[in-house]
Amino acid sequence: MQGGSPAGMIAISSDITDEVVAKEHDLRVNIVYAVVAFILIEVMLFFGINFATRKLQEVIEGKVSHIEELNEYLEEQAVTDGLTGLHNHRFFIERLGEEMHRAQRSCSPLTLLMVDLDHFKQVNDTHGHLVGDAVLEESARVIRKHMRIADEAGRYGGEEFSVALPDTDLEGGEMLAERLLQSLREMSITLPDGSELLITASVGVAQWNGREEISMLIDHADKALYEAKRSGRNRVCRVEM
Ligand code: GH3
Ligand code: MG
Ligand code: MG
Repeated sequence: MQGGSPAGMIAISSDITDEVVAKEHDLRVNIVYAVVAFILIEVMLFFGINFATRKLQEVIEGKVSHIEELNEYLEEQAVTDGLTGLHNHRFFIERLGEEMHRAQRSCSPLTLLMVDLDHFKQVNDTHGHLVGDAVLEESARVIRKHMRIADEAGRYGGEEFSVALPDTDLEGGEMLAERLLQSLREMSITLPDGSELLITASVGVAQWNGREEISMLIDHADKALYEAKRSGRNRVCRVEM
Protein backbone atom coordinates (compact mmCIF):
# COMPACT_ATOMS: atom_id res chain seq x y z
CA MET A 1 0.00 0.00 0.00
CA GLN A 2 1.45 3.25 -1.14
CA GLY A 3 -0.19 6.70 -0.69
CA GLY A 4 -3.63 5.17 -0.34
CA SER A 5 -6.06 5.05 2.53
CA PRO A 6 -5.78 2.35 5.18
CA ALA A 7 -7.23 -0.87 4.26
CA GLY A 8 -8.83 -1.34 7.63
CA MET A 9 -8.59 -0.80 11.43
CA ILE A 10 -8.51 -3.14 14.28
CA ALA A 11 -10.17 -1.93 17.49
CA ILE A 12 -9.36 -3.77 20.70
CA SER A 13 -11.67 -3.12 23.58
CA SER A 14 -11.62 -4.48 27.03
CA ASP A 15 -14.10 -4.07 29.89
CA ILE A 16 -12.18 -2.40 32.84
CA THR A 17 -15.24 -1.54 34.88
CA ASP A 18 -14.20 -3.98 37.60
CA GLU A 19 -10.72 -2.45 37.85
CA VAL A 20 -12.19 1.08 37.96
CA VAL A 21 -14.67 0.05 40.65
CA ALA A 22 -11.88 -1.70 42.55
CA LYS A 23 -9.63 1.39 42.28
CA GLU A 24 -12.47 3.67 43.39
CA HIS A 25 -13.13 1.35 46.31
CA ASP A 26 -9.43 1.34 47.24
CA LEU A 27 -9.39 5.11 47.01
CA ARG A 28 -12.42 5.42 49.26
CA VAL A 29 -10.92 2.95 51.75
CA ASN A 30 -7.64 4.88 51.73
CA ILE A 31 -9.48 8.15 52.28
CA VAL A 32 -11.41 6.61 55.19
CA TYR A 33 -8.14 5.27 56.66
CA ALA A 34 -6.51 8.64 56.21
CA VAL A 35 -9.44 10.43 57.88
CA VAL A 36 -9.56 7.90 60.74
CA ALA A 37 -5.77 8.12 61.18
CA PHE A 38 -5.99 11.91 61.12
CA ILE A 39 -8.76 11.92 63.71
CA LEU A 40 -6.86 9.42 65.89
CA ILE A 41 -3.70 11.49 65.73
CA GLU A 42 -5.68 14.65 66.55
CA VAL A 43 -7.38 12.94 69.50
CA MET A 44 -4.07 11.57 70.76
CA LEU A 45 -2.43 14.96 70.34
CA PHE A 46 -5.34 16.62 72.13
CA PHE A 47 -5.19 14.27 75.12
CA GLY A 48 -1.40 14.16 75.07
CA ILE A 49 -1.07 17.93 75.07
CA ASN A 50 -3.83 18.21 77.66
CA PHE A 51 -2.07 15.72 79.93
CA ALA A 52 1.31 17.38 79.46
CA THR A 53 -0.21 20.82 80.10
CA ARG A 54 -1.87 19.58 83.30
CA LYS A 55 1.38 18.00 84.49
CA LEU A 56 3.28 21.19 83.65
CA GLN A 57 0.66 23.24 85.46
CA GLU A 58 0.98 21.00 88.53
CA VAL A 59 4.76 21.37 88.48
CA ILE A 60 4.50 25.16 88.07
CA GLU A 61 1.90 25.42 90.86
CA GLY A 62 4.15 23.32 93.11
CA LYS A 63 7.12 25.57 92.37
CA VAL A 64 5.05 28.75 92.89
CA SER A 65 3.75 27.58 96.28
CA HIS A 66 7.30 26.57 97.25
CA ILE A 67 8.56 30.04 96.27
CA GLU A 68 5.69 31.64 98.19
CA GLU A 69 6.54 29.60 101.30
CA LEU A 70 10.20 30.51 100.90
CA ASN A 71 9.26 34.18 100.49
CA GLU A 72 7.12 34.07 103.64
CA TYR A 73 9.98 32.42 105.51
CA LEU A 74 12.48 35.03 104.29
CA GLU A 75 10.13 37.90 105.11
CA GLU A 76 9.66 36.43 108.60
CA GLN A 77 13.44 36.02 109.00
CA ALA A 78 14.02 39.60 107.90
CA VAL A 79 11.94 40.96 110.80
CA THR A 80 12.74 38.40 113.48
CA ASP A 81 15.61 38.17 115.93
CA GLY A 82 17.26 34.82 115.27
CA LEU A 83 17.94 33.91 118.91
CA THR A 84 14.74 34.93 120.67
CA GLY A 85 12.13 34.88 117.90
CA LEU A 86 10.99 38.40 118.93
CA HIS A 87 10.88 41.28 116.43
CA ASN A 88 14.34 42.54 115.57
CA HIS A 89 15.31 46.13 116.41
CA ARG A 90 14.43 47.59 113.00
CA PHE A 91 11.04 45.93 112.78
CA PHE A 92 10.16 46.79 116.39
CA ILE A 93 10.78 50.48 115.65
CA GLU A 94 8.60 50.17 112.52
CA ARG A 95 5.78 48.53 114.51
CA LEU A 96 6.12 51.08 117.33
CA GLY A 97 5.75 53.90 114.77
CA GLU A 98 2.60 52.27 113.40
CA GLU A 99 1.18 51.85 116.89
CA MET A 100 1.88 55.52 117.60
CA HIS A 101 -0.14 56.48 114.50
CA ARG A 102 -2.95 54.21 115.58
CA ALA A 103 -2.89 55.61 119.14
CA GLN A 104 -3.00 59.15 117.74
CA ARG A 105 -5.97 58.40 115.46
CA SER A 106 -7.93 56.66 118.21
CA CYS A 107 -6.77 59.02 121.00
CA SER A 108 -5.74 56.00 123.04
CA PRO A 109 -2.74 55.68 125.35
CA LEU A 110 0.46 53.88 124.39
CA THR A 111 3.18 52.83 126.79
CA LEU A 112 6.69 51.60 126.13
CA LEU A 113 8.76 49.27 128.34
CA MET A 114 12.52 48.91 128.11
CA VAL A 115 13.68 45.74 129.85
CA ASP A 116 17.39 45.15 130.48
CA LEU A 117 18.79 42.05 132.18
CA ASP A 118 20.93 42.88 135.23
CA HIS A 119 24.66 42.07 135.31
CA PHE A 120 24.28 39.95 132.22
CA LYS A 121 27.96 40.29 131.36
CA GLN A 122 28.67 38.37 134.58
CA VAL A 123 26.37 35.56 133.42
CA ASN A 124 28.41 35.23 130.24
CA ASP A 125 31.74 35.58 132.04
CA THR A 126 30.86 33.03 134.73
CA HIS A 127 28.82 30.44 132.83
CA GLY A 128 29.73 31.01 129.20
CA HIS A 129 28.02 32.42 126.16
CA LEU A 130 25.76 29.41 125.59
CA VAL A 131 24.19 29.79 129.03
CA GLY A 132 23.87 33.52 128.30
CA ASP A 133 22.02 32.68 125.09
CA ALA A 134 19.72 30.29 126.97
CA VAL A 135 18.90 33.07 129.44
CA LEU A 136 18.03 35.41 126.56
CA GLU A 137 15.78 32.79 124.93
CA GLU A 138 14.01 32.02 128.19
CA SER A 139 13.60 35.73 129.00
CA ALA A 140 11.97 36.25 125.59
CA ARG A 141 9.62 33.34 126.31
CA VAL A 142 8.63 34.94 129.63
CA ILE A 143 8.07 38.32 127.93
CA ARG A 144 5.91 36.67 125.25
CA LYS A 145 3.86 34.97 127.95
CA HIS A 146 2.94 38.37 129.41
CA MET A 147 1.93 39.95 126.12
CA ARG A 148 -1.58 40.51 124.84
CA ILE A 149 -2.37 40.03 121.15
CA ALA A 150 -1.93 43.73 120.35
CA ASP A 151 1.37 44.13 122.22
CA GLU A 152 4.65 44.20 120.32
CA ALA A 153 7.94 42.94 121.73
CA GLY A 154 11.38 43.22 120.25
CA ARG A 155 14.98 42.48 121.06
CA TYR A 156 16.16 46.04 121.22
CA GLY A 157 19.83 45.20 121.72
CA GLY A 158 22.05 42.47 123.19
CA GLU A 159 20.26 41.83 126.51
CA GLU A 160 17.71 44.58 126.17
CA PHE A 161 14.09 44.04 125.19
CA SER A 162 11.40 46.55 124.28
CA VAL A 163 7.67 46.08 124.65
CA ALA A 164 5.04 48.42 123.17
CA LEU A 165 1.70 48.33 124.94
CA PRO A 166 -1.17 49.85 122.92
CA ASP A 167 -4.26 51.03 124.84
CA THR A 168 -2.21 51.05 128.04
CA ASP A 169 -1.42 54.03 130.26
CA LEU A 170 1.57 54.52 132.55
CA GLU A 171 -0.08 52.76 135.52
CA GLY A 172 -1.11 49.81 133.35
CA GLY A 173 2.39 49.62 131.89
CA GLU A 174 3.94 49.76 135.35
CA MET A 175 1.70 46.96 136.60
CA LEU A 176 2.59 44.76 133.63
CA ALA A 177 6.28 45.57 134.12
CA GLU A 178 6.10 44.49 137.79
CA ARG A 179 4.43 41.21 136.83
CA LEU A 180 6.99 40.64 134.08
CA LEU A 181 9.86 41.37 136.44
CA GLN A 182 8.46 38.92 138.99
CA SER A 183 8.27 36.20 136.33
CA LEU A 184 11.85 36.92 135.29
CA ARG A 185 12.95 36.58 138.93
CA GLU A 186 11.15 33.25 139.15
CA MET A 187 12.58 32.00 135.87
CA SER A 188 15.33 29.47 136.41
CA ILE A 189 17.94 28.17 134.03
CA THR A 190 19.43 24.77 134.73
CA LEU A 191 23.21 24.90 134.43
CA PRO A 192 25.31 21.99 133.07
CA ASP A 193 26.23 21.00 136.68
CA GLY A 194 22.52 20.74 137.57
CA SER A 195 22.36 23.91 139.66
CA GLU A 196 19.83 26.66 138.95
CA LEU A 197 20.70 30.14 137.71
CA LEU A 198 18.44 33.01 138.73
CA ILE A 199 18.45 36.44 137.13
CA THR A 200 16.85 39.84 137.62
CA ALA A 201 16.06 42.66 135.26
CA SER A 202 15.40 46.39 135.34
CA VAL A 203 12.52 48.02 133.52
CA GLY A 204 11.94 51.59 132.36
CA VAL A 205 8.35 52.63 131.63
CA ALA A 206 7.21 55.67 129.66
CA GLN A 207 3.80 56.62 128.34
CA TRP A 208 3.71 58.47 125.03
CA ASN A 209 2.23 61.95 125.28
CA GLY A 210 0.71 61.71 121.78
CA ARG A 211 2.91 64.45 120.32
CA GLU A 212 6.63 63.73 120.55
CA GLU A 213 8.73 61.87 118.00
CA ILE A 214 9.38 58.16 118.39
CA SER A 215 12.98 58.90 119.43
CA MET A 216 11.72 60.99 122.35
CA LEU A 217 9.47 58.18 123.58
CA ILE A 218 12.40 55.74 123.45
CA ASP A 219 14.60 58.32 125.14
CA HIS A 220 12.12 58.65 128.02
CA ALA A 221 11.83 54.89 128.49
CA ASP A 222 15.65 54.69 128.40
CA LYS A 223 15.89 57.41 131.07
CA ALA A 224 13.47 55.42 133.26
CA LEU A 225 15.57 52.30 132.70
CA TYR A 226 18.72 54.19 133.59
CA GLU A 227 17.02 55.35 136.79
CA ALA A 228 16.07 51.73 137.62
CA LYS A 229 19.71 50.69 137.13
CA ARG A 230 21.06 53.65 139.08
CA SER A 231 18.78 53.10 142.03
CA GLY A 232 19.86 49.49 142.53
CA ARG A 233 18.50 47.38 139.59
CA ASN A 234 15.86 44.62 139.87
CA ARG A 235 13.06 47.20 139.79
CA VAL A 236 10.65 49.18 137.64
CA CYS A 237 10.97 52.95 137.21
CA ARG A 238 8.69 55.27 135.27
CA VAL A 239 8.97 58.73 133.80
CA GLU A 240 6.25 61.17 132.79
CA MET A 241 6.59 62.69 129.33
P1 GH3 B 1 23.70 46.10 133.65
O1 GH3 B 1 23.11 45.48 134.87
O2 GH3 B 1 24.21 47.46 133.93
O3 GH3 B 1 22.79 46.07 132.49
O4 GH3 B 1 24.98 45.25 133.29
P2 GH3 B 1 25.14 44.19 132.13
O5 GH3 B 1 26.31 43.35 132.45
O6 GH3 B 1 23.86 43.47 131.92
O7 GH3 B 1 25.36 45.11 130.87
P3 GH3 B 1 26.58 45.23 129.91
O8 GH3 B 1 26.14 46.23 128.86
O9 GH3 B 1 27.83 45.57 130.67
O10 GH3 B 1 26.77 43.82 129.27
C1 GH3 B 1 25.87 43.29 128.38
C2 GH3 B 1 26.38 41.95 127.98
O11 GH3 B 1 25.47 41.28 127.12
C3 GH3 B 1 27.69 42.00 127.25
C4 GH3 B 1 27.48 41.14 126.03
O12 GH3 B 1 28.51 40.23 125.84
C5 GH3 B 1 26.22 40.39 126.34
N1 GH3 B 1 25.49 40.01 125.14
C6 GH3 B 1 24.98 40.82 124.17
N2 GH3 B 1 24.38 40.09 123.22
C7 GH3 B 1 24.50 38.77 123.58
C8 GH3 B 1 24.07 37.54 123.00
O13 GH3 B 1 23.44 37.48 121.92
N3 GH3 B 1 24.36 36.40 123.67
C9 GH3 B 1 25.04 36.41 124.84
N4 GH3 B 1 25.28 35.26 125.45
N5 GH3 B 1 25.46 37.56 125.41
C10 GH3 B 1 25.19 38.72 124.78
MG1 MG C 1 22.15 44.58 131.28
MG1 MG D 1 22.11 46.59 128.19
